[in-house]
Amino acid sequence: MDHFLYRYGTLFAEDVPISEIAAAVGTPFYVYSTATLLRHYRAFDEALSGMDHLVCYAMKANSNQAVLRTLAQAGAGMDVVSQGEYLRAKAAGVPGDRIVFSGVGKTAEEICVALEGGIRQFNVESEPEMEVLNAVAIELGKVAPITVRVNPDVDAKTHAKIATGKSENKFGIPIARAREVYAMAASLPGLQVIGIDVHIGSQLTDLAPFELAYQKVAELTKQLRSDGHTITRLDLGGGLGIPYYASNEAPPLPSDYGAMVERTLGHLGCEIEIEPGRLIAGNAGLMVSKVIYVKSGEGRDFLILDGAMNDLIRPAMYDAHHDIVPVVEPAPGTEKQPYDIVGPVCESGDTFAKQRDMVPLAAGDLVAFRSAGAYGAVMASEYNSRALIPEVLVHGDQFAVIRPRPTFDEMINRDTIPSWLEAHTAT
Ligand SMILES: *Cc1c(COP(=O)(O)O)cnc(C)c1O
Repeated sequence: MDHFLYRYGTLFAEDVPISEIAAAVGTPFYVYSTATLLRHYRAFDEALSGMDHLVCYAMKANSNQAVLRTLAQAGAGMDVVSQGEYLRAKAAGVPGDRIVFSGVGKTAEEICVALEGGIRQFNVESEPEMEVLNAVAIELGKVAPITVRVNPDVDAKTHAKIATGKSENKFGIPIARAREVYAMAASLPGLQVIGIDVHIGSQLTDLAPFELAYQKVAELTKQLRSDGHTITRLDLGGGLGIPYYASNEAPPLPSDYGAMVERTLGHLGCEIEIEPGRLIAGNAGLMVSKVIYVKSGEGRDFLILDGAMNDLIRPAMYDAHHDIVPVVEPAPGTEKQPYDIVGPVCESGDTFAKQRDMVPLAAGDLVAFRSAGAYGAVMASEYNSRALIPEVLVHGDQFAVIRPRPTFDEMINRDTIPSWLEAHTAT
């Protein structure tokens, strides 16, 4: 459930009409609901309440400072995958002991920044990374708490670009080699082994692959303990999917997920950590766009919007489906017609939906892309020199711009001219 509902014939974000935000900030824009963000965070927090746990929001899904602050104030930790994300988490007030550092390519500099600023743990993904982490920690006179990310070779049955738990993927250490890698970790004085990490992919709509992976983690916990390692924390990754189709059967709820975690891992007495991103932010956001033209083509009609693939790349990148709804509520029984819904960018990949049934729309009408709060704004670019679109946060009957639209001068002035081009102007 989210807080984007029709009231008085028009779409609202909590208690604010979308049309009012559009009038204030212009289109296109992203809008997020505080109540929905908190609702999703709390659903996970409650689902794990029977166990010692921490929900570390995977901030790559949406890393706006105001979103991070909203979740951090509710008690969330953060899962970061870069120095930039680490610094964003700190800037949002998240203490180092609630920040987990994931990712296959942490550099010595990134490791150094996190060790100096404070870190809950590093999720280590390879032996070379382990050696660098050890060396940096020793140099700083610190001991780095670590888990090793294991790759359980489980098919997450999700889109190939976001499946991470098969042996052919670049992530983690093959679970069969885990004991040897943990032995190496134990021999390095700059590291302290505290647990195991696993993350098998994103947008999973079934609990079975998770359960398979977690059973393997349970087995590994026992093996590693018998090898003499201290395993007190299990980081189970993120990946629980969201319903992108309003009409479809919904994926499992956080409560189902929590019950499964307790069933498969609860007996081990470990602290449980999870890293949900999409499920917290995805359905807490809309992208709102305006129809520029309705164009009649050869046997099909195009809705040409002012939003494009550079603003929301998921359809082009992952063949993703987003429900697209008119901001003005259609009268009941209004007949629908198929449209190809596209943006203005100069390539055919800039297509949000083909032959999508919509009520008739005209130039100037507003539409809202649902489920756009995760992997939306964070993946946006300025392709075609289109300005990054603003982000807005709603809280009850209030709203605020949490990232303004840059001016074209700001965009242009980010480029710098080398001296040999400065001498004279073009002829
Ligand atoms: C992307 C990612 C997540 C979050 O995945 P969601 O599908 O957004 O929940 C969590 N952990 C790691 C290591 C990731 O790479």
